[in-house]
Amino acid sequence: MRISGRTKIIGIIGHPVGHSLSPIMHGAAIEALNLDFVYVPFDVLPENLGKAVEGIKALDILGVNVTIPHKEAVMAFLDECDDEAREIGSVNTIRNVGGKLIGSNTDGVGFLQSLSESGFAPRGRKAVVLGAGGSGKAVAFALAKSGADIVILNKTPEKAEKLAQDICSAIGSDVKYGQISDENDLRMHLSDSDLLVNCTPVGMHPNEGCSPVKSELLHSDLVVYDLIYNPVRTKLLEDAQSVGARTMNGAKMLVYQGAASFGMWTGTVPPVDVMESSILQSL
Ligand code: NAP
Repeated sequence: MRISGRTKIIGIIGHPVGHSLSPIMHGAAIEALNLDFVYVPFDVLPENLGKAVEGIKALDILGVNVTIPHKEAVMAFLDECDDEAREIGSVNTIRNVGGKLIGSNTDGVGFLQSLSESGFAPRGRKAVVLGAGGSGKAVAFALAKSGADIVILNKTPEKAEKLAQDICSAIGSDVKYGQISDENDLRMHLSDSDLLVNCTPVGMHPNEGCSPVKSELLHSDLVVYDLIYNPVRTKLLEDAQSVGARTMNGAKMLVYQGAASFGMWTGTVPPVDVMESSILQSL
């Protein structure tokens, strides 16, 4: 990689960011297209978020991804958010358009694209979404907009209720909600569901031994999608596979949400295959 006087800067803000695979994935895409861009990780403490966002303008950075813990808090510092980011209440991509910072969220698009590639069509199907944080909100909105009948179960039930209400007022769907620790609720909803999506960090490295759902509640008619990609096969996915369910991890979503951001910044068709290989190699 050669930095020139005209090199454009893109990157990611989060805390911590050292574990992020985005620099490798975007770096591979930049190299494949031979663009005069560089993708930089910026470790930004929560108390420095406002100053860091001002810095995007001051340093004429073309755009950044936003990751944990800034996806919601960053919205207060932006000039504008697109409809989807406003609806979800979370931003994972910022564009600097002539000094105006615009927030978007590509998690929902990335999730749906990976799901549709697997052959699963959400319309008319019942889906249980575990978690109501940043990714849970994006996934729940995306599924509801695609015509799925959804149930949101969260550790803090009030957050599941709030998300269900937000979806209902935005798109009119009737969304059920409850508490993830209520085993009877989980059993009842999973028994006739087609899709289970884990949007919690339960089972993520370094806590590989945990699953958000007991294995006896899973069944062979389920598609089980775990947003976690490290490890590539979580305990939830192992349990699902052992009962004959179809499984997916979060690697494809990571690629497609990143590709959508990359396309926004560079105006190119993102080299999705290159981005995916770089992720699979890193994992
Ligand atoms: P987040 O905003 O912090 O939300 C975490 C959610 O998980 C919250 O709803 C939280 O419940 C719940 N939760 C936390 N600990 C729990 C526990 N011990 N038991 C049950 N529920 C628990 O995080 P996020 O950004 O949504 O990320 C969630 C996971 O998705 C992470 O593993 C992340 O790596 C993955 N992810 C993957 C992609 C991808 O592209 N593949 C994209 C985004 C995220 P409360 O609200 O009650 O605290």
